[in-house]
Amino acid sequence: MQQPFREVAPVKFLHNSGLYIHIPFCNKKCAYCDFYSVIPSENLKNDYLSALLGDIKLKGGQYDRPFDTVYIGGGTPSVLGKNIKTLLDAIKDNFNVSANAEITTEVNPDVSDEFLEYGINSGINRISIGLQSGNDEELKILGRTHTANDGRDAVNRIKSMGYKNISADLMIALPNSNLYALQSNLDYFNSLDIPHISSYILKVESNTKFSKFTPPLPDDDNCAQQYLAMCDYFENMGYSHYEISNFSKPGFESKHNLKYWNCEEYLGLGPSAHSFMDGKRFFYPKNIKNYIISPNTEFEDIGGEILEKIMLKLRLKSGLELSEFGLENIIPKLDIYKTNQLIRIDGTRISLTNKGMLVSNSIISAVLELVYENI
Ligand code: SF4
Repeated sequence: MQQPFREVAPVKFLHNSGLYIHIPFCNKKCAYCDFYSVIPSENLKNDYLSALLGDIKLKGGQYDRPFDTVYIGGGTPSVLGKNIKTLLDAIKDNFNVSANAEITTEVNPDVSDEFLEYGINSGINRISIGLQSGNDEELKILGRTHTANDGRDAVNRIKSMGYKNISADLMIALPNSNLYALQSNLDYFNSLDIPHISSYILKVESNTKFSKFTPPLPDDDNCAQQYLAMCDYFENMGYSHYEISNFSKPGFESKHNLKYWNCEEYLGLGPSAHSFMDGKRFFYPKNIKNYIISPNTEFEDIGGEILEKIMLKLRLKSGLELSEFGLENIIPKLDIYKTNQLIRIDGTRISLTNKGMLVSNSIISAVLELVYENI
């Protein structure tokens, strides 16, 4: 049941919006994953696509502003096969998508050539591939269905189809891992010669297979060493560490994900998808059957307030310009973090170092406390 929104003053946005579409299907659930997805039947896929197309039409009519990023995530969008064209056509017919929009889809290494071909012909210009590791034993423990060779072959197929803007997901601090195992994974990812890498420290989330049978994980010190070694490695290879978990070659930052961290507007469609539009945050519950019957959102909160903007901007290498918020006077209180090499202070701009990014939650909380005392 849709919740009534609280009345708030409309927020004026200076930026184009981003559109996220969730495809909640996976043929097998990975052991660490808590994203919302179900194992699909052909009927369920068809019913979901029909509901999604109806929702796209409805929401396109409600939000006639320009969108300059589209991100199709999941789940596994590549299960759509050639229906990716139907989806992209509907998006472009119903939303005001800029001519030079960044249009991303997530894929797994088993993505079909058909999907890649229909995708590129329908305007997809960025691929994010879930690889996670270049080690077959680790891939097996993670519950992935591909091997390191499958991952490499998939990247080569994606390139040969004409895609240039490619990102891969990497996980570090994997079960039984150490710095030696990490080095070989980093070499594997570097050898793929792709312009963007998203890297996450494995965390055991509730309601995952790992939460029931947790494998032996490296201790906190080893996780920290792995994270810092990875940051050094990719920076030495010419990648910019532009966000806590993201590395890119110049010009290949994820424009869509930057909207989240810059607190810009995005609209999400599909079960579990979140939105931030007109100053309000809302989401679809994680229930595909209800979405198919009636795709209603629930109100979450008012968004875009100062503390939230500060928290999100501190995730970025570009950091936080304190003068934008009239907070220059907190600089002397940040000296302790600078002395401990946790933050950089450049005039009135502050940003987290790699060491600071590793403990970002506590640094961001400390900065927010200082900000709170000053607003
Ligand atoms: S990691 Fe990706 S492929 Fe694996 S279950 Fe999660 S969404 Fe599906």
